Amino acid sequence: MTGTPGTGKTSLCEAVASSTGMQHVNVGQWVRDKELHDGYDDERDCYILDEDKVCDALEETMEGGGVIVDHHACDFFPERWFDLVVVLQTDNGELWGRLEKRGYSQAKVQENVQCEIMMVVAEEASEAYQPDVVKYLASNTVDDMERNADTIIDWVSAASSG
Ligand code: ADP
Ligand code: MN
Repeated sequence: MTGTPGTGKTSLCEAVASSTGMQHVNVGQWVRDKELHDGYDDERDCYILDEDKVCDALEETMEGGGVIVDHHACDFFPERWFDLVVVLQTDNGELWGRLEKRGYSQAKVQENVQCEIMMVVAEEASEAYQPDVVKYLASNTVDDMERNADTIIDWVSAASSG
């Protein structure tokens, strides 16, 4: 599950995980808990991810299957880990409000909304994965969230029965 911060990845992962029994891996959480970083970037106000450490830490869990990975980037993960890459997308005004509510600085809100406008994550996913693996879902309303959860649950059950 990928998308700009604030698009609703974690909320949707939690819903899908609780319905399917899949394991939800919040990469940001793992980075903090297991220190998979090279320190903190004060200017950008985030951890400097160590991509090799993250992939090493995840390898065993991913081999077992049945995992939903929750992260705002996706191109440094091995392609073989994923049957499906979901990109969440949110309208600018809506995203702005969510990030402000989260207490992000004005600069960080602006950086993330800009990232969404430029479709940075969507482009990254489309470059790193086969077209039929990548799905783009609008995530603007609670109705969207419920519909997206149902859609993904259907994909998961189709994939596991097929
Ligand atoms: P992310 O993990 O992508 O940063 P979150 O799941 O933490 O995003 O969601 C950010 C905020 O937006 C939360 O307050 C959440 O309740 C809200 N939210 C998430 N998805 C939606 C949606 N589809 N419609 C309205 N609000 C949403
Ligand atoms: Mn999140």
